[in-house]
Amino acid sequence: MSGKRVYAFGAGSTESEGLGKNLLGGKGFGLAEMSRLGIPVPPGFTITTEVCNAYNENGGQYPDGLDAEVAGHVTQLEGALGQKFGDPGDPLLVSVRSGAPLSMPGMMDTILNLGLNDAIVDAQSQLPAFDTRSLLDAYRRLIAMYSNIVMDLPRPPFEAALTAARGKQGVATDAELSRESLAEVCGKFMGIVAEAGKTFPQDPKEQLWGAITAVFLSWNGDRAKAYRKINGISDQLGTAVNVQAMVFGNRGIDCATGVAFTRNPATGERRTYGEFLTNAQGEDVVAGIRTPQTIEATASSPGLAADFPDAARDLEAVAQRLEAHFRDMQDLEFTIQHGKLFMLQTRTGKRTGPAAVRIAAEMVGEGVIDSAEALKRVEPQHLVQMLAPVFDLEQKRQAVAGHRLLAKGLPAGPGAAAGRIALTAEKAASMAAVPGADPVILVRAETSPEDIVGMHVAAGILTSRGGMTSHAAVVARGMGKPCVVGAGDLSVDEHDGIRVGDRHLAEGDEISIDGTTGEVIAGRLKSVPSAVLDGLRSGRSDEPGAKAFVEILGWADHVRRLKVRANADTPTDAEAARLFGAQGIGLCRTEHMFFEEERIPWVRRMILANDEAERKESLARLLPMQQSDFEGIFAALPGLPITIRLLDPPLHEFLPHGEKAIRALAEQMGVAPEVVETKSEQLHEANPMLGHRGCRLGLTAPDIYDMQVEAIVRAACVRAKTGEKVRPEIMVPLVGSVSEMVALRERIIQVRDRILLAEGQEIEILVGTMIEVPRAALVAGKIAEHADFFSFGTNDLTQMTFGFSRDDVGSFLPHYLESGILDVDPFASVDEDGVGQLVRMACEQGRATNANLHLGVCGEHGGDPRSVHFFDQVGLDYVSCSPYRVPIARLAAARARLGVGSGGKDTS
Ligand code: ADP
Ligand code: MG
Ligand code: MG
Repeated sequence: MSGKRVYAFGAGSTESEGLGKNLLGGKGFGLAEMSRLGIPVPPGFTITTEVCNAYNENGGQYPDGLDAEVAGHVTQLEGALGQKFGDPGDPLLVSVRSGAPLSMPGMMDTILNLGLNDAIVDAQSQLPAFDTRSLLDAYRRLIAMYSNIVMDLPRPPFEAALTAARGKQGVATDAELSRESLAEVCGKFMGIVAEAGKTFPQDPKEQLWGAITAVFLSWNGDRAKAYRKINGISDQLGTAVNVQAMVFGNRGIDCATGVAFTRNPATGERRTYGEFLTNAQGEDVVAGIRTPQTIEATASSPGLAADFPDAARDLEAVAQRLEAHFRDMQDLEFTIQHGKLFMLQTRTGKRTGPAAVRIAAEMVGEGVIDSAEALKRVEPQHLVQMLAPVFDLEQKRQAVAGHRLLAKGLPAGPGAAAGRIALTAEKAASMAAVPGADPVILVRAETSPEDIVGMHVAAGILTSRGGMTSHAAVVARGMGKPCVVGAGDLSVDEHDGIRVGDRHLAEGDEISIDGTTGEVIAGRLKSVPSAVLDGLRSGRSDEPGAKAFVEILGWADHVRRLKVRANADTPTDAEAARLFGAQGIGLCRTEHMFFEEERIPWVRRMILANDEAERKESLARLLPMQQSDFEGIFAALPGLPITIRLLDPPLHEFLPHGEKAIRALAEQMGVAPEVVETKSEQLHEANPMLGHRGCRLGLTAPDIYDMQVEAIVRAACVRAKTGEKVRPEIMVPLVGSVSEMVALRERIIQVRDRILLAEGQEIEILVGTMIEVPRAALVAGKIAEHADFFSFGTNDLTQMTFGFSRDDVGSFLPHYLESGILDVDPFASVDEDGVGQLVRMACEQGRATNANLHLGVCGEHGGDPRSVHFFDQVGLDYVSCSPYRVPIARLAAARARLGVGSGGKDTS
């Protein structure tokens, strides 16, 4: 390492022009940029990150000549300010501030007021009382900060001494401490240092080097290392040190210190937003000792301009200037000394999802960035946050402080929901049916298809078992409902209620769940609906968030190659799909239609049928019901492709469980309970997910599929006769062998063509298959000869490729993730190396034998940004996901084209 290692900054200075954050650190870079722009910044200098690395590599040795270089800069600073280090008449005081290339909040500390000592304070005490008070205030801060950061003394004794002083003088805040009290505090502080066997250095130069060294050492402190590890930040970056002349926000009521954002970081609204404290220094604003005032004038605050008109005007101008320069929302720190504004920091501001979307979209409108840049800045997760209802933040904070947080589960369906506990689906339905009833939260150990009705009426769903793709999670996301799953600390029993520790919540008690964070809270929190969703539903996009949401997705649609469809089982789902811009339906599961109240008896009759005639009768009853569903779905998305999956789950799922329910059914069907019991036993399987389901069912009980195909084709004919274009696609689940596909396709085509002929219609109805059994991927080339399309069912494909039961992963997956055996949950994000290889291979082989083969994915992965990136690369034609994830997939597909969002750490 050689050459220049220290760079000056300060209004107008350009010494470090062309150098970046890697060398200057984020803070140093911001200070240098502001200086170049002529913005008032107290002058100082930055010691580069290279020095930090050299120091730590050389076992605590500074590079030769650094001493002189720093001394030169101190002299330069003294000259510029007409002050001198250690001069009792007019001392130079500085802050020593760390600043790594990436923001590491709270990791490295800053020392203020460095350069003060006893002699200076004594000399200054001869001057008018007002300044002496602030000097003493500065001195006590220096002693405490220096003792803690450089000499490693614990903070509490210092804080205790301050508290004692306030008590003695009878005041509430440090700002009210008198000159005398502060003098006493300084004396006490020196005593604490002495008692610890240390001495506070009186020589400013010694203080300076002590502070610089402490910053460099802190780079390898435990806290900093841990933070870097968690956030995937390289240890090699190092930190810079900034030495900067002090300005004082604590020299009276014409002084202040504050923080500001160039736009509202919660909502994105374009207006300078922030807080300040009069007569205060440094971190007082964030420390929460006194309540700061808002910069903007409000009912409770006169605003910054009331007391500091010039500084407020300048701050506004600086905010505009910096935003234009950095082309992004900035987070600013400033101090006002005797009415004059000084800027101390600027950096890209953190923001919520809704703010990120709005800021990006509005900046395109303002001509600050282009739409591609906006798409790079908005993450799919930001869009999700915009659709979910949210809890009142203050109420939630109070609830957590009041020990009402019961557990933390997995955040399976974003949004806030509060209501009364229902422990069974039936109870949920009956509670919700009461006019004017409170919202219901369905709480189960886990859910099953039987619970659908209860899930439908519930405002939110909570389970103690299961992972991100458990039944509850998938269905809730599909419905766009807040959902927390796998809250393992809770024991949930449908007769007893919820127990956690020594707490007990019974059915009917109030509970709140936050599906965005996974929190489960006792009692009822207030939630507010998403303004964006309201706007979309009512077709209004004048609400700024909704407008931004629509704009961002519009730009995404121009960029993306992948089409996006939705998984939708009902006309209502299909409506939602259209609302979110789906280009068709990639998966319509027919079994959900079977569970509806007036249908399930006929489904059960069909299952319990003694002979073919009886079964045919039940199927004949079901046919018009299915047909009308399909008509509704086709009507919701005219002209768009709709992929309908033939019946997939094992039949026993449609039969009730438990003696009571069985007896009730037998009575309803007019058969002996033993008949139902025997049938139920016959259908029982040790491993139902690998059992008699999917196309296996289609081959052994062909009249079920016949009925479904007939319903699809008839529905298509009905719509076509109205002059609408319909594009049904019939999908066979769970194919593993070519011969399964050949046999089923033949039969499906027969039924299809018979009805089309009878109806005199010519409608293109494709027949394809899901690829979800690993063997299907292995023989994809052959299957493709008999399929118009493949849809990768990556849930089952992942389950069977890993051999993980997705409903049972909760017991070991958390351990796998924690210990690094797996990097990511393969049910949440497609496993590129394994499952992804099967997908890739099946695509290649399928296209090789059938050039027209259409390719899509309909597993949960279709709504996962990382997975979408992978599917784009593999060359699928579309992804399909639950309606509420369609916006995510649209954006992710665009970002994939722009080469962002392939995974890795979220850097926002
Ligand atoms: P952090 O990285 O924790 O934000 P900073 O180095 O920004 O630490 O310092 C914290 C605060 O200390 C600043 O926001 C500012 O209010 C105050 N401060 C730092 N340097 C100076 C200075 N030279 N003059 C006045 N106040 C300063
Ligand atoms: Mg700061
Ligand atoms: Mg499947």
